[in-house]
Amino acid sequence: DRINVAIDGPAGAGKSTVARMVASRLSYIYVDTGAMYRAVTWYMLREGIGPDDHELVRQTMRNLVIELVPGAEGQQVYINSEDVTPHIRSLQVSSQVSQYAKLEPVRTRLSQLQREMALGRGVVMDGRDIGTTVLPDAEVKIFMTASVEERALRRFKELGGKEQISLEQLENDIAKRDRLDESREISPLRRAEDSFLLDTTSMDIGQVVEAIVSRCRA
Ligand code: C5P
Repeated sequence: DRINVAIDGPAGAGKSTVARMVASRLSYIYVDTGAMYRAVTWYMLREGIGPDDHELVRQTMRNLVIELVPGAEGQQVYINSEDVTPHIRSLQVSSQVSQYAKLEPVRTRLSQLQREMALGRGVVMDGRDIGTTVLPDAEVKIFMTASVEERALRRFKELGGKEQISLEQLENDIAKRDRLDESREISPLRRAEDSFLLDTTSMDIGQVVEAIVSRCRA
């Protein structure tokens, strides 16, 4: 029988890499909810819509067409039929996303889309509020963490010199994003009480995937 798997945790814990591998092992759909918040942020920035312009944000969220398409190279995000995937991992989007993700019209719309994607099939979904808010009935809930130093190091290696940023600056950015995500009013980053706490600081990807897959088969 198909189950839903919720993977939450702070920035840079490696959730998306692991979630994609778990989904592939189980032949489930993988839903990267962070990509949706990032895509909305990129669009708002391009249109010059600031996070304080609540009425314009609300109107924009009513009309946006947001699509997530799973593919071999990971998943693609479309906004109004435009593929925005190449833009959403930039440092600019990363530094602004929490300001938009805290807004009610953004969260309500995206959470609703996320619930629809999980309807009637097994999904592996990663984010910040999946186990607490989006899929509170998920059969398997994982809260994945690692020390902030280790998370910054993982991001640094992932960027591979593509962005001009030091390890120290990355660590600051990650810590700041976590603080914003933890302190917002609506569905903040929080460990669900019934989630399994997985500290991956000294684990490799294969071990983390095994730990999660074994809980899905239990
Ligand atoms: O997972 P990722 O780092 O791509 O998420 C980017 C940002 O999107 C997070 O820092 C958070 O502000 C927001 N987010 C959220 N709720 C989710 C997923 C992401 O608020 N379920």
